[in-house]
Amino acid sequence: AKAEGKDTYRYFEASMGAEARDKRVMEHDLRQAVARNEFRLVYQPQKEISTGKMIGFEALIRWRHPERGDVPPAVFIPVAEDSGAIVQIGDWVMATACEEAARWKNPLTIAVNVSAVQLHNPNFSRKVHEVLLRSGLAPGRLELEITETALVKDMPRALATLRQVKALGVRVAMDDFGTGYSSLSNLRAFPFDKIKIDGSFIKSVDSNGQVAAIVRAVLGLGRGLGLPVLAEGVETLGELKFLDAEACEIGQGYYLGRPSPIETFGELTGVTAPV
Ligand code: C2E
Ligand code: CA
Ligand code: CA
Ligand code: CA
Repeated sequence: AKAEGKDTYRYFEASMGAEARDKRVMEHDLRQAVARNEFRLVYQPQKEISTGKMIGFEALIRWRHPERGDVPPAVFIPVAEDSGAIVQIGDWVMATACEEAARWKNPLTIAVNVSAVQLHNPNFSRKVHEVLLRSGLAPGRLELEITETALVKDMPRALATLRQVKALGVRVAMDDFGTGYSSLSNLRAFPFDKIKIDGSFIKSVDSNGQVAAIVRAVLGLGRGLGLPVLAEGVETLGELKFLDAEACEIGQGYYLGRPSPIETFGELTGVTAPV
């Protein structure tokens, strides 16, 4: 269960405060988790809305702690970012996702989340290049999902890095669009290939007029800029129908497919047994 991972770290009673203590323990555990093989990737379908055709997957990390069980990424990714462990974890995600995708029988795209700390690491684009060479994945199949908060830390450096990865032929998507605070100027300043509307805007898009107006505006923005828009968090047929009627290009969400081990999609990928 989702809340469990969060709570199981909160059992110390110490003067420094349970929260801070939990964080230190988790930081320590995270530093060993790659070597101990505690991470794996699940894959969530991204589909063309008008046809239902599968376009690709987003890779989402899962952590099974040997004693604490599943710890959700929303709990451990921020801790890994603070401690710097995200660089090693992110390298593992990138390499694993590209190596797995290179073996699929269909050339589906693979979207990988990149955190701010990774993006601002001076070696980032060189590492992406190396992973592509080693895995043999066609660069055009890799899409990096980057949030606005990752950009604002050091905009000139983020821009330089995005240009470098784009020169490799890799695509970049603006993730969680609408949740940042300067979305419009960032869309102009950075060479994005796609806009991902955050799931919080898709929930109730078919029943709430204000939310619908916002989503329509984002779709108009995408059209004007020539960028396809992906709606995340599509949970119901009603939401999907709204998005289809408004000509939203791509959808992702529980209604279209849950994040699952890759062998769940064996028919498309040819991967039939756990690796
Ligand atoms: P995100 O990038 O916005 O990913 C989408 C999240 O929404 C995922 O949660 C996914 O499982 C969930 N989701 C998908 N469809 C639905 C739906 O229909 N309804 C609802 N309510 N949720 C849906 P998850 O896997 O728990 O990941 C949470 C966040 O953790 C991600 O948000 C991303 O920011 C971060 N994350 C996950 N994997 C990685 C990774 O490999 N690297 C980095 N840096 N961050 C990651
Ligand atoms: Ca994402
Ligand atoms: Ca999101
Ligand atoms: Ca809804």
